[in-house]
Amino acid sequence: MPPDHTALLKERGIQVTAQRIAVLRAVSRHPHITADAAADIVRREIGAISLQSVYDALNVLVTGGLLRRIQPAGSPARFEDRVGDNHHHLVCRVCGRVVDVDCAVGSAPCLTASDDGGYEIDEAEVAFWGRCPDCVAQSRQPSPSDPPLRRRAPRRTSAHPHDAATPRATNDDRGLIAGPHPSHP
Ligand SMILES: [Zn+2]
Ligand SMILES: [Zn+2]
Repeated sequence: MPPDHTALLKERGIQVTAQRIAVLRAVSRHPHITADAAADIVRREIGAISLQSVYDALNVLVTGGLLRRIQPAGSPARFEDRVGDNHHHLVCRVCGRVVDVDCAVGSAPCLTASDDGGYEIDEAEVAFWGRCPDCVAQSRQPSPSDPPLRRRAPRRTSAHPHDAATPRATNDDRGLIAGPHPSHP
């Protein structure tokens, strides 16, 4: 059952507007969305709305505790409606995809500072950086299903341009196939 966004806003004492509802719904359906992407979705739903209005709505919703803002280094701010559990994020260095990862301990804050300096800590932010499964798979040559030891075999075909047209040559040397080669008589 989808969350009742109108009730959520009322619960938090936030004035209910069509724009805020639409922004909240967009973020709820697309976790870790950027403000720009949220604006696109909201426009499709309720028509013209300025980017500034979307930012304003996001700010109100973050301040009201309905949304959480995260900002991985080098990325625009992203928003999600999974709040209050202090979960962390896996960030792909290549495509920027962000996914949730549960806190190792399970309650906020999951990191107890050795010295809180008198601060009342309510959040600990951890980002795990790396490459997502898709980007790892894409960087592999040849494709993961091929036995690694055989990857050199197709190179033979580079000496025989006619053979390059056979499917077996697609392991490597894609550029060779795409490029011009002697045509048949
Ligand atoms: Zn990726
Ligand atoms: Zn998240």
